[in-house]
Amino acid sequence: MIELISIGDELLHGATLNTNAQFIAHKLYNAGFEVQRSTTLPDEKQALQAGLKEALSRSKVVVTTGGLGPTLDDATKSIVSQMLGCEPRFNQRYFDHLCQLFGEERSTFRSQSTVPEKAELLYNQLGTAPGLIFADEGLILLPGVPSELEGMWPKAFEFINRRLKDAPRVWHKRITLALIREQKVDPVLRVLKDQFPELGFGIYPAYGYLGVRISGDDLDKIDHAIKKVKDEFSSHLMTDGAFRPEEVLHEFLTQNKQTLAVAESCTGGAIANRITMLPNASNYFLGGVVSYSNAAKSSLLGVSKKTLQTYGAVSSETVQEMLDGVFNQFESDWGIAVTGIAGPSGGTDEKPVGTVWVAIGKRGESPYIGLVPLSRSAWARKTIIRACSNFALAGLWHLIQHNTSPFEAYNDKL
Ligand code: AMP
Ligand code: MG
Repeated sequence: MIELISIGDELLHGATLNTNAQFIAHKLYNAGFEVQRSTTLPDEKQALQAGLKEALSRSKVVVTTGGLGPTLDDATKSIVSQMLGCEPRFNQRYFDHLCQLFGEERSTFRSQSTVPEKAELLYNQLGTAPGLIFADEGLILLPGVPSELEGMWPKAFEFINRRLKDAPRVWHKRITLALIREQKVDPVLRVLKDQFPELGFGIYPAYGYLGVRISGDDLDKIDHAIKKVKDEFSSHLMTDGAFRPEEVLHEFLTQNKQTLAVAESCTGGAIANRITMLPNASNYFLGGVVSYSNAAKSSLLGVSKKTLQTYGAVSSETVQEMLDGVFNQFESDWGIAVTGIAGPSGGTDEKPVGTVWVAIGKRGESPYIGLVPLSRSAWARKTIIRACSNFALAGLWHLIQHNTSPFEAYNDKL
């Protein structure tokens, strides 16, 4: 019914990540429309012609991105004009729009304002290429630059909505569960699938938390099934919708006017970064210390040299003193400390790569301290950092909600 065609050699070379397809598919999916196919094609005339023709023959709406620029490699506009047999025409109004937008005339404006005669134009407020809608064919051409495409999306979406107004919609709900593994959730979903064969189910694991999706055309049934999952995993339910643990903490700490500070060694500021990527994190986030060296752990957090010598930087004793240091330095309500070996080098038999201690606590109360339950499959450096920050954030959420050990809640491997 709807298909996407992402156009550009760079996408096929792996040089550019195809975020446009993700953006559009996500918008459509949230509106209950199903994208049934998404293809990537090169900036090459024959491949494009064949791909477009095929897509138009089977889909009511085809959305393309890329290849609308004025440079030698951008061919989408001319190929479509040819295919649909429409003459290119100079559009004075669009030309004027560009001159006004950029405050002067530029050499590419004429060609960018020359568009197939029957196309409806989507004005670009950031760049020069207009989007084009061919209403009879259900074809929408959008530029490749993500911000430009996103700017014209509402107009493109209006068209799709009109064209598919009688099409069946698929609705979906998501919830996010924390500190649980997919193997625990899967059997429950299988039972529900037998009960509700007409619904679609999905599990999306993310090292330390996971999303559950249920979709179908009957919202009541979806709600019913979602409730069953929530009841079954009530102690793990982090939120309705698809959210990361830092987003859920953000909400809670903001609403409850409580504060947080962190001390990070092997995660190198990843936890603080994830928190501060959210606007208004300053309402509750007091700060973080990236204490990578032993010297920094001592001087910035007050970890004793004796502790470091006796137990090492990667130990429960050190992480506990790091957390003490956080509370001394920041006087926050909540604190997180992390120290470990992210690899690939630096591991020993006793402390292999993936040995990561985390302390999570409330000021004035004894903290929960333990090893992040990483499995061998998570031992790539990037994954360790990701998984440990997930676990620390989701662990703090668990502690706040349940006042019990996050390590016991998650008695499995990430
Ligand atoms: P184009 O419209 O093909 O000239 O593309 C303009 C810019 O947008 C280039 O820098 C592309 O790498 C980028 N771009 C094109 N298609 C995509 C896409 N599907 N996702 C993300 N960026 C893209
Ligand atoms: Mg291109």
